[in-house]
Amino acid sequence: MAAIPPRRSFSESARYHAAATQAIAGGVNSNVRLGAPLCFARAAGAHLTDIDGNTYIDYALGMGPAVLGHAHPRVIEAARRSLALGQMYAGQHPAELDLAELVKRLVPSAELVRFGMTGSEMIQAALRVARSHTGRAKIVKFEGHYHGWFDNVLAGAAADAGGDAPRYTAGVLTSGQMQSGVADLLVLPWNSIDALAHLFALHGREVAAVLMEPMMCNTGAILPRPGYLEAARRLCDEHGSVLIFDEVITGFRLGLAGAQGRFGVRPDLSTFAKAVGAGFPLALLAGRADIMSLIGSGRVNHSGTYNSNVMSIAAGIAALEVLAENDGHVMKHIDVAGQALMNGLKELGCKHGLNLQVSGVGAVFNTAFTDQREVHDFASFRCAREDRLNGFLQGLLARGIRPTSRGTWFVSAAHSESDIDATLIAADAALGEIQDLGK
Ligand code: PLP
Repeated sequence: MAAIPPRRSFSESARYHAAATQAIAGGVNSNVRLGAPLCFARAAGAHLTDIDGNTYIDYALGMGPAVLGHAHPRVIEAARRSLALGQMYAGQHPAELDLAELVKRLVPSAELVRFGMTGSEMIQAALRVARSHTGRAKIVKFEGHYHGWFDNVLAGAAADAGGDAPRYTAGVLTSGQMQSGVADLLVLPWNSIDALAHLFALHGREVAAVLMEPMMCNTGAILPRPGYLEAARRLCDEHGSVLIFDEVITGFRLGLAGAQGRFGVRPDLSTFAKAVGAGFPLALLAGRADIMSLIGSGRVNHSGTYNSNVMSIAAGIAALEVLAENDGHVMKHIDVAGQALMNGLKELGCKHGLNLQVSGVGAVFNTAFTDQREVHDFASFRCAREDRLNGFLQGLLARGIRPTSRGTWFVSAAHSESDIDATLIAADAALGEIQDLGK
């Protein structure tokens, strides 16, 4: 018999949500949060507290940014001190150069950088400059990868929506989005060298850029197959296309040089956000000097009122300094803690006779219930059992453990051994509860 979780009340969150829906569309400010009506009061380290006073060991971490844990004292202190200097000057300030030099030192492909506020907008800048550099229009993207909510990238394969769309046709994912907005996207399965080589054979001369998450964190935390990133690099070189790594999740999380450092493949351009600001709004585009110079010369427009605001830059410098200290000691801790959690969850899946697969790396991984032997792309991930995942997540939340609603877990520098132990005790009980769900 599974242990009965302690009773928790969510009445204040429910009251809040009812009031919020009268003032905020859907009661939330990002559609990703629809259907998750908890309201939070504060967060520190690895822990969150909601307005009913319930506490959680947090593995959502703001959907990734809080790589050092919530409210890391050095980041908060740097941001606090910056507030007295004013917030923005519509001009330069010395700290933005300090941060740029820090990024250049940590990420070898970052010959020049530009700062912004969100991952979505840096993706737009990357696509624009890639098109200017190549004089071509087409962008290759992959099923299950997310690159922000803007019209020209929010797309899956049209065939998935039914019908008999020609190969590689993109399909829009929200009402209000025009099919014309994705006309220059080519969408294909990720992690197949053959599929990418075939696309290049047909369309190589039209492809401005290949855009991908170098590890598919938005679907299943799926690693690139050996040789895949290298093949993408080679095909882009052969056809004069720009290789863009979207490191919004993986940057400063998979290592000090992101996924590109971990897997040893150098993109032409890359986008970073989330961890780089450790919770403050900060993003950046980095890449080859000859391509980035198109922005620098003014030929390609990249603008933004809030870009490089004083507080976000101060937070970014503090975050990267902490991450880089002692040869990346903090990043090693994150990987070790996350790996211990992954191993513990795998063992519990076996103990309960469940088809629990834990994929990814210590810093970001995913839990899914699937009989697929190898989950390597969007199609193989979609076979997973949603009822089991939802039951598991509900059981965890009832015990004060909070991964993301997709079953993705982010691990931070603040997660301690006792957090991991407490999480595994809760997971044991939550898995026990879903054993009876139909086979
Ligand atoms: N790219 C990736 C890989 C992401 O995961 C996200 C957001 O989750 C984005 C881009 C968009 O970033 P933002 O939400 O900061 O606009």
